[in-house]
Parts: sequence; structure tokens; C-alpha cells
Amino acid sequence: MYFIDVILPIPLKQAFTYTVNSHEAAFLKQGMRVSVPFGKSKIYTAIVYQVHDTPPLGYEAKSIDQILDEEPIITPLQLQHWQWIADYYLCSLGEVIKAALPSAFLLQSETIIKIGSNRNVKDENMSDDEFLLYEALQHQSSLHINDARSILDRKNVVAVIQKLIEKNIVTVEEKIYEQYTPKLKRFIKLAPQYTSEEKLRLLLDSLNANATKQKEVLMTLFMLSAQTRKPVGSISLQKKSGSTSSTLKTLIDKGILEEYFIQKDRFEYAGESNSEIKELSAAQSDAFQEIKTSFKENEIVLLHGVTSSGKTEIYVRLIEEMLEAGKQILYMLPEIALTTQLISRLQKYFGERISVYHSKFSVNERVEVWKNVLNEKPKAQIVIGARSSLFLPFQNLGLIVVDEEHEPSFKQYSPAPRYHARDSAVVLANFHKSKLLMGSATPSLESYHNAEIGKYGLVTLKKRFGDVLMPDIELVDIKEKNKKKLMTGHFSDRLLEEMREVLKNGEQAILFQNRRGFSPVVECTTCGVSPQCPNCDVSLTFHQHKNQLRCHYCGYHMAMMQSCMACGSQTLDTKGFGTEQIETELKSLFPNSTIARMDQDTTKGKNAYGKLIESLENEEIDILVGTQMLAKGLDFRNISLVGVMNADNLLNFPDFRAHERSFHLLQQVSGRAGRTKKRGKVLIQTYNPYHQILKQVSVNDYRAMYKEQLEERYQYKYPPFFRIIKIVFKDKNLERVQKAATWFGQALELKLHENVLGPEAPPVGRIKNKYIIHLLVKIPKTQSLEKTKKYILGVERSFNSIKEFVSVRVNIDVDSY
Ligand code: ADP
Ligand code: ZN
Ligand code: ZN
Repeated sequence: MYFIDVILPIPLKQAFTYTVNSHEAAFLKQGMRVSVPFGKSKIYTAIVYQVHDTPPLGYEAKSIDQILDEEPIITPLQLQHWQWIADYYLCSLGEVIKAALPSAFLLQSETIIKIGSNRNVKDENMSDDEFLLYEALQHQSSLHINDARSILDRKNVVAVIQKLIEKNIVTVEEKIYEQYTPKLKRFIKLAPQYTSEEKLRLLLDSLNANATKQKEVLMTLFMLSAQTRKPVGSISLQKKSGSTSSTLKTLIDKGILEEYFIQKDRFEYAGESNSEIKELSAAQSDAFQEIKTSFKENEIVLLHGVTSSGKTEIYVRLIEEMLEAGKQILYMLPEIALTTQLISRLQKYFGERISVYHSKFSVNERVEVWKNVLNEKPKAQIVIGARSSLFLPFQNLGLIVVDEEHEPSFKQYSPAPRYHARDSAVVLANFHKSKLLMGSATPSLESYHNAEIGKYGLVTLKKRFGDVLMPDIELVDIKEKNKKKLMTGHFSDRLLEEMREVLKNGEQAILFQNRRGFSPVVECTTCGVSPQCPNCDVSLTFHQHKNQLRCHYCGYHMAMMQSCMACGSQTLDTKGFGTEQIETELKSLFPNSTIARMDQDTTKGKNAYGKLIESLENEEIDILVGTQMLAKGLDFRNISLVGVMNADNLLNFPDFRAHERSFHLLQQVSGRAGRTKKRGKVLIQTYNPYHQILKQVSVNDYRAMYKEQLEERYQYKYPPFFRIIKIVFKDKNLERVQKAATWFGQALELKLHENVLGPEAPPVGRIKNKYIIHLLVKIPKTQSLEKTKKYILGVERSFNSIKEFVSVRVNIDVDSY
């Protein structure tokens, strides 16, 4: 008898054992996939961990359904890395696998199978079984694996579905992510019976005299296809022939023309990699050499370079050297949105050696990148991606760049694995013996501290590229402006003055407001009540555009009311303000300017974000108002003014990182100003211009911020001096969740004493009808992290055996952000 241990993509921590026959045992290797039965009727795709001949204890092993791969799709090194993630972030290896693999690799009984993007499906390219499933999908919109079983009248169907996925004939539905519909380009050709010149002439003659437009189209099409011998796109045909889409339609309806579609890979690079890599300035060149020197002694180097110092060009040089050495390169960014600008920038240098990988891609695209990386294809020598790109099957990784390393979105909060992609990349680099470069204008305290104590190398770039000055930052005291009646709406006289100047010069301005919506809170001035979300403990936000009240936590919304729901009086007032209100005020203040807004509400559509960036680059927008989306690494030429509408709501956020984050955010938004010759101007409006952080921002003093914050972290026992583990409890019943957290907290205190904080309700104590309570465990550097985690897991096990608490959900968040 032979057995295999497999890992299932589920939260259970143990491996499961199945039987295989001797052929299968000889064929199977670690990292291959098999489909296996589980429980009464479930099917999972599992990863082979090892092949052996010891039967499992305590249960009879079932046999596998089917082998799905001919070669491993996961490398041993990946499994090692994922095991580290599971151990460090206290989750199961299965949960890491679930996050790591594109879902098309992990078909299971719940998977919904739908028709794919391939529109040129030919019967002869399919086996009989494949065809049967394809045909079934012509009649119904989706299938489950069990449906496929009954259609094919056999058990082993996963491999068939897998084949169909590879051919793009079917795809799997993903609930969590926005569905990506591939771009299809429309092409036009002559119907086959008219393709010779002779027949075309006959056709032209047969068209009646007033069909001149149609004739024009046909002539143009004939000419274009003769000239280029390439497919003729419908748009270019319309343009070249000066016709409309209705003329095309008429010809298609008559059967003279035919339309067809070719899928355009969204990121297929059409141009050439023709741009020369920029020559580095003296300062950049020094930094570049320093990094290389530092890499001789350190695995990890932190590049602290002010905004617009030209960090990206330095990465480019390092990437170039790694390419020449034949190594793979991973370039990680905190957010998908940011990739757009960077991709086009890097493609100019490296052309099609770049692949992009993130969760907004279709499953098929992700599978493709996965395979290209696994097989070390030149196409995927450089991978740009968000945090999940860390899980790709690199074979020969030479360099990881973690850009904007300070960004909190590198940490995944939910679901498990709650991993920090930067920190996990450090471990990955270690496994591969590759180099890792972190870059930021405002490094996180943790990374900067690591550099200071010699764990990382540190290279500093203090000047902006091209002798551009750092922006001039001015704090505006709006308390005083209010007193002196110098405010128009939310705009101080200083801000208005600077804006007029900028608009007069034909330059652009960005306004930063850290809240979306029109106005966060509606309040009755008679009785003081504000409408609350029925599911969460937050006030609803007024969205003027839709005349709605919305909850930003659960999406609940209702029409804006005319009168107070509590007392009935029509004295509803709006307090605070959001991006939408700023936009409205701007429109009446600057009626002749083009104003746009960038926040979660205006960037929902797939290309909405890219379009806004493009219009800003093309200077079609004069003033852009937005949330912190604006702050991130964007590079614009013509922005000379940045206004921060109100810095106080950032600073007052109840979190030990709030001050550090405010500094980062304000420095980063300021950094969008004046990236070319002219010195940029930044105005920060605040009720508290004497706040230390604002002062440090205004003089660009990162070191002062760092020292002061570090001191506070030391005093109050926070990272980097203490590690923190947050334990989150959720339940529908408030009393029960409080009791549960108290029980857990007391059990922890037995051993961890005063380093257990809470139970405490977070600022928003109820979300989606579940009450939330936190415990925080602080772990001094002198205390064993491993033992502490073991202890916490032990407490969790006892907790799970208490009947009263079965409904309480417990999440453990290591290094919580
Ligand atoms: P950072 O990443 O530090 O914010 P960037 O790399 O985006 O800075 O550089 C800022 C601007 O300066 C970009 O528009 C970039 O093209 C330009 N730049 C940087 N280095 C050079 C160089 N060596 N030669 C020409 N232009 C450069
Ligand atoms: Zn809600
Ligand atoms: Zn009222």
C-alpha cells in the first residue's frame, strides 16, 4: 500500500492521508495537485506533500480521485516559505495555499464554473467530455463539479474542467473579486465570397448609387488589408473611411462584411522597449553605488529617498543588472492602483519581459503568469505585483524591490493568512539568497530602526532629482481664520489666494481630504440625534450625489430624510465634511475650472482610476480633490499646489501609529507638488498648527519625527521594541463576546501578566451586526516569541472546547496594523 499526505486549502492544521496505487506513487511528487474526496460529498484540490507507505492512525485512508498535474506546480522552496508564514502568522498551511494559488488551480465542490472568454471555440479542439460540459454551459449559466459528474456520468471530472480552463473555454467564478472581462478588439473583414478584386468590383457595381458611404468603406477595407496584410480593426476602418458605425452595421447585416473579435491581452505591450535607461544624476549614482556596496554585506537595504528623488530610476538600474545576470526580479507595490503608472514606465525600458500579477486579474491570466514564472520564461523575468505576487513559484530570484515599504496595505487583515508582505518578502529573499531593496520617502519606524541597529543597510537620498526644491509647506491656522471670518466654506483665504494664482498660471492643484462622501455626519440641531447604521456602531454618511445616507463599513444605505427621525423637526445639519462637499464648494468657487474627485466612490469602475490619472496627466483637470488615494507614489508634471483641507482628523485617530501615519501621509501628498523645475507649494489647514508632527512635516524633518515617535513607542511598549498580537473576538451577542474575551484575557494573564491589554471595544464596536472586542498581547524582545505563540494557541484550544463560546469567532493577528 502506498499513501500520500496532502494539504487541503482549509483552516485545519493537520495534513490528510490518502491511498494511491504503485504507479501513482511512483509518479507523484511534492507540489503536484490531486483531487480528493473529503467528508460526505466534498471534493477538494489538494497539494501533495509526501509519498510514503505508513497508513494513517485512527482512520481508513480513502483513495484519491485523480492526479491533476504532470509536473509539480509548487516548488519545495515555496512550501517552506508558506510553512513559515503559517507558523509565524498562526494559521494553517492550507489557508496560505488558498491565498497563494490562483483559484483556478484549486477547484473544489463549491467552485462555480462558467463560460470563459474564448469566443473562437472549435469543437475539434475539445475531447468528447470537454464538449459535453461546454455544451451544458450553453444552456445553463453555471455548473458545479457535481453537475459535471452527472453530465459525464463519472467521478473523475476535475481534470476535464482543468483542461477547459487552460483553453479559456470555461473559467471559475470568483465572488470576492471584481470580475475581469477581457478586452476584445473588434475586427472587420470581407465575407469570403467577395475577397477577390474581381468579385469586389461586381459587388461595388451592384450597390446602388446613393450607397456612397458603403462603397467608401469597402474600398478602404480592401486597401487597408492589401497594404498591411493584418487584421483591420473596426475603429481604424471607420476613421480611415470617414464613416459611422451604422454604415458598418448595414454592411454586416447585408452579409457583405463580417465582424470578428480577437482578445487583446490587457497588458500585452505593443510598443518596443525603445527608451534608453536614464543616466543617473551624481546623487543617484552615489546612492546606486552605495546600495551595491551595502548589498555585499547586507541582504536587505533600505533606500530612504525624499519624494521625487528618483528612486524608481535607481531600481531600474538594479533591475537591469539582475536581468543581465539572468535572474528573476519581483517588484512589489502596496496597491494595484499604483501599478498602472509604474508598468508603463518600466515597459518603456524592459518591454515584454514584464509580467503583472494581482488579484484583479482573471484566474486564467494569473495561471499564465504562474506558469511563466515557474518555467523561468523571459516574459516573466520581471514581475510587478501587489502583495500576493510574493507567492509566485520563483526559481531563480535575484532581487526583490519593496516600493513604498511604509504602506500599511502590505499587511493583509482579512482573511487569514494575516501576513505582512514586506516582512514575508524578507524571509523569501533569505530562502532564495536574493537581495531585497526597500524604498520609501517616509520609511516605517520598524524598517528605519532595523537600519539603525545594523540589520539592514541604509542609503539616503536627500535631494530631489534635477535640483527641484522640496515643496514649501505652510501651516494655516483655521481656528484663527474662523475667528477673523476669513473662511469661505472650508477654504481659508490663504488657500483660495494660492489656488487663484495656480489657476491663473494654467497649473494644477490637488486637494486632499481624508474622507469620502459629502459630510460624514448628519445631525439634528434640535435634538442632537444623528442617523446611525442599523448594523454597525457608526453614523451614516451623507452622499449628496445620490442623496443617500451610507454606511462605510457594511454598505447599508437609505434615502436622505427630510426631517429628523427622532423628533421630526426639519433642522438636519451636516457636520464635518468629505470629498464630495469640497467638490461642491469648489464648483461654486471656481465655476470656470475643471474639477474632478478621486475617492473610492469615483474609482469603482475598472478603468476609472486610470482614466482620472490620465486626464490629470493630460492636464484636462485643473483641480483634483481626493482621499489618501492621491498620496501614493504618483508622478505628475504640472501640479504646483497641494492643499490639505484638514490635518486634524488624521492626527486624532486612536491608534499608536496615528502620528507616524499622519507624517507619512502628509509628506507623501506634499510630495506630489512641484516635481519639475518650479518649487511646489503646500498648504496644510489645521486647528492645531503647533502639533509636533505638523511642524516636523513642514520642515521635512523625518529624523525628528522618527526619534520622537521611537521614544514614545519605547515608553508605551509598542513596536519595534515589543511585538504585538491582536486577538479579535466577534459575536452577535454583546454579553457573550465580552464574557469570551474576558475568559481568554484572564487565561493569557496567568502567564503573560501585565502584557495583556483589554478586553476593549475598538472605535467601531459593532460591524455587520457583530460586536467586536479586542485583546492585545505585547511581547518584549527578551521573551520567546515562539513560546508565547504556543501558549496563545493552547489557550485558544481550551477556549474552543467551551460550549458557551462556540458561536464566538476568534481571529489572531500577529504584528497587527
Ligand atoms: P521617486 O520614485 O523618488 O519619487 P521618481 O523616480 O519618480 O522619484 O523620479 C521623479 C521624476 O524625475 C520622474 O519624472 C523621473 O522620470 C525623473 N527622473 C528621475 N531620475 C532621472 C534621471 N536620472 N534622468 C532623467 N529623469 C529622471
Ligand atoms: Zn453598517
Ligand atoms: Zn431631532
